[in-house]
Amino acid sequence: MGTGGLQCGRPLTIQREATSPKVAPLSLRGVNALLMLVCYTAFEGLFPEIVMRVLVVEDERRIADFISRGLSEQGYAVDVAYDGDEALQWVDVAQFDLIVLDVMLPVRDGVEVCRTLRERGLRTPILMLTARDAVEDRVRGLDSGADDYLVKPFAFAELLARLRALTRREPAVLGTVLRVDDLVLDTRTREASRQRMSLELTSKEYALLEYLMRHPNQVLTRTMIAEHVWNYDFDNATNVIDVHIRNLRRKIDEPFPTKLIQTVRGAGYRISVRQSG
Ligand code: CA
Repeated sequence: MGTGGLQCGRPLTIQREATSPKVAPLSLRGVNALLMLVCYTAFEGLFPEIVMRVLVVEDERRIADFISRGLSEQGYAVDVAYDGDEALQWVDVAQFDLIVLDVMLPVRDGVEVCRTLRERGLRTPILMLTARDAVEDRVRGLDSGADDYLVKPFAFAELLARLRALTRREPAVLGTVLRVDDLVLDTRTREASRQRMSLELTSKEYALLEYLMRHPNQVLTRTMIAEHVWNYDFDNATNVIDVHIRNLRRKIDEPFPTKLIQTVRGAGYRISVRQSG
């Protein structure tokens, strides 16, 4: 699944779908992302949750907005697709940690989307939304490869609980305690420590550190970091990422003899006990 051609601030769907009339929702999304970025920057320390990337697929705007806003407030990075085809396009160009997928969708319904994604080998946890009386939908949904379902209308707290449960079920994506040298990150308690000294991180610094620690010894480009820890649609990714890396270094590296976060010139960043060069 290639994301290499993706440019920050411009989902590849725009380039691919240059002839499609989807410009309005995409530009709206850009405004939303900008607002979210402003909110994150202003209130960053107030959101204790880890940032994971969620795709919400729902054609009813009211519900899509409700879910999207709620998840954003919890610190998730959210993208919204309004029909089945758009969902497949997003998954083509981006890596999501979770997918919330409504069954009743125009163009291609949720069951078909789910089946297609599984046939393509995608293992991302999928939570399906179904109507109250549609027992058959639930069975079809689970048969098509969904991991769980939630019946509409639902309490937002339940959606959050289900999403948390799904991420815990994906061992390749989530372990409980991550270690790089003497740096330890407990993803249950969201505590970071080094040499048993507790380190205070903001939610973005935490998300950034977790992303680095889940890919030890690998170079992560700024684009990869932007895609994972932030949404696509923000233009000044490089500067924002560099600032957060600097702050993270000040906390986890400066007080200790072994420096773990390395700058790979012209490429990005990596966390490793090996020295760069
Ligand atoms: Ca729907």
